[in-house]
Order: sequence, then C-alpha cells, then structure tokens
Amino acid sequence: MKIRTRLTLMFAITVATLVFIFSLATYVAAYLYRQSEFYGRLKDKAQTTAELLLGTNDVTPEVLKIVDAYDLTALYHEEVTIFTRNRKMVYDSGRDQVKIPDEVFKSVALGQDVWFEAQGREVIGTLWREGKIDYMVIASAEDKWGNTLLSNLLLSLTIAWAVAVVISVWLGFIFSSRALQPISNIMQQVDSIGETNLNARVRTANNKDEIAHLASTFNRMLARLEEAFMLSKSFVANASHELRTPLTSITGQIEVTLLQERSAEDYKAVLQSVMEDMHSLNKLTNDLLTLTQTGADIASFRLNPMRVDEIMWQARMEVLRAHPNYQIQIDFSNFPEDEEQLLVNSNEPLLRTAFANLMDNGCKYSPDKQVKVSLSNTNNTLKIEFADQGIGISEKDIRNITEPFFRGENARSFSGHGIGLALTGKIVFLHRGNLKVHSIVNKGTTFSISLPEYEPLD
Ligand code: ADP
Repeated sequence: MKIRTRLTLMFAITVATLVFIFSLATYVAAYLYRQSEFYGRLKDKAQTTAELLLGTNDVTPEVLKIVDAYDLTALYHEEVTIFTRNRKMVYDSGRDQVKIPDEVFKSVALGQDVWFEAQGREVIGTLWREGKIDYMVIASAEDKWGNTLLSNLLLSLTIAWAVAVVISVWLGFIFSSRALQPISNIMQQVDSIGETNLNARVRTANNKDEIAHLASTFNRMLARLEEAFMLSKSFVANASHELRTPLTSITGQIEVTLLQERSAEDYKAVLQSVMEDMHSLNKLTNDLLTLTQTGADIASFRLNPMRVDEIMWQARMEVLRAHPNYQIQIDFSNFPEDEEQLLVNSNEPLLRTAFANLMDNGCKYSPDKQVKVSLSNTNNTLKIEFADQGIGISEKDIRNITEPFFRGENARSFSGHGIGLALTGKIVFLHRGNLKVHSIVNKGTTFSISLPEYEPLD
C-alpha cells in the first residue's frame, strides 16, 4: 500500500473514530436524560392521581377522567391504575391496560419503585400510603416526543459522522499529498542522476526539516559514489598505462631487432631484456590481481596463527631469489624469546607479499642496496621494522605513497609501478595492523608494521 494511501486512511480512521465516540456519548447522554426525565414525569403523574383520588380532595374517578381528558399536559397514551395491596383494582383511567407481571406487584408492595417497558410503553409502579392503607399505583405512557427527538438525534449524528468521514478522507489525501510532495521531488531528482552526471546533487526548498536531512544524506552518498567512481576510472586508466609501457618496450625491441640479421649474442641480449620486461609485467598483473582481491570485507577475511619470523625469512628468500645483489639483514637483538610471542593471526601468502614489498623497496631505493629488518614484541603487539639508508621520501609525497600508482618525485628513475605500498597498506589493514613510515630525504626510510599478537581463544 502506498504511504499516501496509508496516511490518508490513518487520518480518516482517527477522525471517524473520534467523531463516532463523540456521537455515541451524545446519544447515550440524551437517551439517559430522556429516560430519567420521562420516568420522573410518570411518577409525578402516578402520585398526583393517587393524591387527587385517595386523598382528602373529594375528587371522584369520573371527575378525574374528565380532567385528564382535557389536560393539555397529559402524556401520550397515558394510563394510571391503582390497586390495593391484595391487587384489587380501585381505579383505572380506562383505555388499554398494561399487563403487570407478578414480580412488579411484589416489589412495589415492598415499597420499591419499579420501572420497565411493556407493549411499547414505559411503566412505573410505586407505593402510595393513604392513612394506614397502602395502594399500588401503576402509571404508563408512551414518550412519543422524546423518542422522536432521539431518533432525529441518531439520524443527525449518523449523517454528521458520514460527512466527517468523507471530509477527513478528502483532507487526509490533500495533507498526505502535500507532505509527500518533497519526497516525490527528491525521487525525480535522484532518478535523473546517472553515471554521466554523478556530480549533480539533490536540492530542497527547506533546509531544516527531515526531508532536507534525507536530501543531504543522499548528497553525501552521491559524493562517495562519485569519488569511488572517479577512483575506479583513474585506477583503470593508470593500470592500462602501466601495462602498456612494458608491452610497448617489448614490441619496440623485437621490431628493431628484426630490421636486420643479428648475431647470436645480440638475439640473446634482446631476449634477456624482453624477459625482464615480461617479469615486470608478470609482477604488475599479479600485484593488481592481489590488490583487487584484498578489497574484500575484513570480516570475511580468514586468518591462521603463524610465526611471523618464518614469514619474514620466506619473504627475504623470495626477494633475494629475484635480486641476488640485495642485502637483507635480520636484526635479532630484540627478538622475543618466547615462541608464543612470535605468533600472529595471518594470511601467510599476503603477509609474505607485504614484507617482501618493504624489503624490496628498502634495497631498491638505497644506493647500498641494503635493508635492515628487526622484530620486537611490546605489550602483545609485534613490531616489524624495515630500515634503509636510501633516497628517502619527501614530506609532500609521504601522504600519498599508499595510493595506487603513486610514485615519489625522486623515485622516477627507479623501476616500479606504484602498486606495492598500496597493496602492503591493504594487507596490513586486513591483518588489523598498522603501517607507519618515517623518512628523511637522502638519509633513509623506516617502515614499521604493528600486528596484534595471536591470542588463543581459551
Ligand atoms: P614502486 O616502488 O613500484 O614505485 P611502491 O608502492 O612500492 O611502488 O612505492 C610507492 C612510492 O613510495 C615509491 O615510488 C617511492 O617514491 C616511495 N617509496 C617506497 N619505499 C621507499 C623507500 N624505502 N625509500 C624511498 N622511497 C620509497
């Protein structure tokens, strides 16, 4: 059901219920008032008749009947009957008598006033004491005027209720349409925003109400989407550029070589160079693949307890296999003695890649091709530092080095694609760790990774 229909219905139901309760209360009050007022009049009539007839007024039944016949204030179908205690009728005003149930006589004899309805008339029975003799006086009449008034009131209230329902549906529809208009506006605006105009924003007339709040929430989401979209666009552009460079180099080398006959050494040299480019291409595609895979949600990332020093040694071996001229020194001075303190929750291949990247960078960006790796455990946090005495990173560049494809000003003459640190940053984040860098240009750089120590569950 549409919100507009729901609001309209709620409003109409509320109004209809309120008007119904009000009408019911009015009707019940009128009904009770009429009843007590009419019974009061009937009792008066019963007592006046008894007084005139049985009292010391010397009014005979015949005279009383004549008086009643000309009484303009007489009740409709009015009739008074008087009985002695042993139910002998002493007076009857004479038209059609109401049948009196036995219990009524019994109760009246006990001195109680009894009210009831019979044969479309209202009846009252009351005890009248004249001297020492008790009489039972029964008066009955039809409240024609009161009943007509009541049925008129019922009709008027029903009509008023129906009119109130119709008006409330109409008003409810108008109010809900007005209230929801700004949402329809927002929907129209959001509908018109696509990938070609992600920079468009939602506008509202009022900037304080909930709708404006909704619009600004939409706008914040649009800003995030726009940023993510731009990032992915530039990522694809950068990746294509990085992939094209070694491919162009390979094509160029082969084309130039094929221009003329070459010696076996020349062919060997070209193949060697092409293989280096292929290696670089291979590493880049692997890194790109890992980078996109590590974009996964941290909660679904599976980790196992592993000794961090073992991962470190494996990373060292991997780097040295590719660059035998690099020197990677492991500093044992702060190594934790307890083996348990070397355990971290890790994804081994990824953590190895992160360590290898930092070792590789340390050697690559240092003239002495050396990096020093140290490991310590303080307060259940493992800290792995990679320190070199290389070219360093300027303060301006340090902020961006974990952005994909970013390369420092002073690193352009070195081979690389700017993917390694982005990947390392993500891997450390997925291990719930921290990556920090401290660097002084032309003095050296220290990267440090902090990882929480493995905590067994029991
Ligand atoms: P790449 O090394 O392929 O350029 P990285 O993502 O590994 O890509 O590093 C990004 C940038 O960070 C590098 O281009 C370089 O400017 C800087 N950098 C990283 N490590 C070092 C280091 N040890 N010494 C100096 N600069 C570094």
